[in-house]
This record gives sequence, structure tokens and C-alpha cells, in this order.
Amino acid sequence: NIQVLLARRPEGDVTKENFEVVSSPLPELQPGQFLVRNHYLSLDPYMRGRMSDGPSYAQPVAVGDVMVGGTVGEVAASKHADFQPGERVLGFFGWQRFAVSDGTGVTRITEQDLPLSVYLGAVGMPGVTAYIGLMDFGRPKAGETVVVAAASGAVGSVVGQVAKIHGCRAVGIAGGPDKCRYVTGELGLDACVDYKAGRLREDLAAATPDGIDIYFENVGGPILDTVLARMNPFGRIPLCGLISQYNATEPYRVRNFGSLLINRLTVRGFIVSDHLDRWPAALKDLAQWVRDGKIKYRESIVQGIENAPAAFIGLLAGKNFGKQLIDLR
Ligand code: NDP
Repeated sequence: NIQVLLARRPEGDVTKENFEVVSSPLPELQPGQFLVRNHYLSLDPYMRGRMSDGPSYAQPVAVGDVMVGGTVGEVAASKHADFQPGERVLGFFGWQRFAVSDGTGVTRITEQDLPLSVYLGAVGMPGVTAYIGLMDFGRPKAGETVVVAAASGAVGSVVGQVAKIHGCRAVGIAGGPDKCRYVTGELGLDACVDYKAGRLREDLAAATPDGIDIYFENVGGPILDTVLARMNPFGRIPLCGLISQYNATEPYRVRNFGSLLINRLTVRGFIVSDHLDRWPAALKDLAQWVRDGKIKYRESIVQGIENAPAAFIGLLAGKNFGKQLIDLR
């Protein structure tokens, strides 16, 4: 087996020295266990939080442990009554090629018509995050303007398309002309603002002539400030992520905090794993929208578990274009 361990905790930016790639023999299966050959590992921004031992909603990874992460794969061998070789499974097996499981926390994927990787993206945790954040905390009404940050990414791309499905004007914010072209061309959003072009305030104003009713927040920092200044009265801000701050050593001070009072805004931080009751409905809708072509998605796939550290460092810097995956086969 090949595994990636947390070697040391980062201070500021993550570097390759924070990880260690090790190989180890596979343990022999005990009765009640099965062996999973992981096909894809999902790389997600939350993993930055698990690398640190500061205040968080979840326990950090211990130094020396396998990095955590969602995976999809197939049962390769089994001494478990309920899991047979060849079955497709979604698990939380971390940064490793193989895993031994007793079935705890493992979901069988019985539908055969969608590719396995989509269960880590649009029909998986990021898709559900987009769905719950927008539908439950954004509460979109037809005709309203929804702005989403990191709009070409795993969560953001679903937010924008679900907003369109519900009759909203959907505007993305993304880094660079290629990502913006994809957001309007392929994903079908009404506009996309390239925050790296240096005219965020003007470009956002032009893209949101009626102001902003819902801001789905993924990034924080100066982008949040610029959006706050354009929020409409009684607007909603599902606060999903603050990726621009994850490597920061000094907290960012929000300048336009007063907009919350003046505009009677609702900011709602949420963590998708707190809302397990909503997952089945979300996954059902998301899978159907993907089948119907109403939700499109894009993946950045890097080959080989040993390249996961570099891919993760790239994800935090916006080098990914769509859902970041590692192909472990
Ligand atoms: P993405 O696929 O969107 O990849 C991350 C993207 O963030 C990058 O591609 C980059 O896009 C953008 N980014 C990185 N640095 C900056 C920066 N300094 N300023 C602006 N944008 C930046 O990742 P996900 O879709 O997986 O995650 C998106 C957000 O959702 C994250 O904040 C994550 O933590 C959060 N999240 C929260 C969950 C919850 O339960 N609350 C669950 C899942 C995700 P670009 O090139 O366009 O800048």
C-alpha cells in the first residue's frame, strides 16, 4: 500500500515537507473485514483545517497519521457478509491506495450510469454543500440575484447552476479569464467577474445592476468586503468557506461590516456534515440534474497518490480548475 501521512503541522503556507509518502504491506483480512481498492481520492480545502490543531469544528489529524479524505473505489477482496468483491463503495479512507474496512461509514454505490468520480463532486459532499447552503440558508426566489465566489470550483459550480434552475440571476466570481469563460459559457451563468483583473468593484457593479440578494461565500478577504457593499436589504449570506484565509497567519479585518446592520443581512455559517438529514434529498436532486444535463461539472485529475501533496498545495492557490481529484489506480 502507499499512504500519505501528516509529517508536521504547517505554519502559514502548506509545503511538501508537511507530508510523508510511505509504502507498507497490506494487512491480512480478518473475518468481518473487506479490502477496498480506492480509485479516486477527493482533495478538499477543509483538509487544511485538519492539518492544524487550532480551534475548529473537527478534530485535527494526528502527526504521523494518514491524511483524511473521501474516496471512491471497489471492493477487492472480502471476508464481510454484506460486501462482495466488485461492489462500488464511497468511503472516508484517506490519502491511500488501499484500505481495510468493517463497513462502518461506507456507502454502497449501486447506480451504474454515473462515473464513480462524480460521487466525490457534484453528486457528493461538495454538491450537497452547495445545495444546502443555497436552498436552506440562501432561500432563493426567482428573479433574485445570486453571487457565488470560487464559481468554477466543486461547490461554486453547483451553486451557480442550482441558482439558475431556480430562476435566479446567477453571477460568478472566479480567478482568470479561462475560469470566467467556463462559468458563463459551459455552466450557463449570466455573468462572471474575474477578480484577478483588478476592477472587482466596477465589474461586480456592472454584473449586478439590481444589487445582490444572496452571496454564497467561499473565499472571504477583500472579495467579501466588495460584495458586502452591494448587498440588497434583507440579503442572505450562506457562509460556506473562507479559503483566502486558510493559510493566513493574521486574521483579515472586514471593513464593510456595517452593511450587515444597514441592510439587515443574515449571515449563516454552516458545515455540511451537521445536516445529514438533508443529504438524501440533495443527492437525489443533484444526481437527476446531472443526468438531465442541468448540472455540468469539470474535474482536475492528477495521477498517483505520491502527487497528492503538490495537488493539494495547488488547490489552496487556485491551480485546480473544477473538482480536484487524485487518480489512485
Ligand atoms: P474549489 O474547487 O472551489 O477550489 C478552491 C478554489 O478557491 C480555487 O480553485 C480558487 O479559485 C479559489 N481560491 C483559492 N484561493 C483564493 C483566494 N485567495 N481568493 C479567492 N479565491 C481563491 O474548492 P471547493 O469547491 O471544494 O471548496 C470551496 C469552498 O467551500 C472552500 O472555502 C471550502 O472550504 C468550502 N467548503 C465548505 C464546506 C462546509 O461544509 N461549510 C464543505 C465543502 C467545502 P479561483 O481560481 O477562482 O480563485
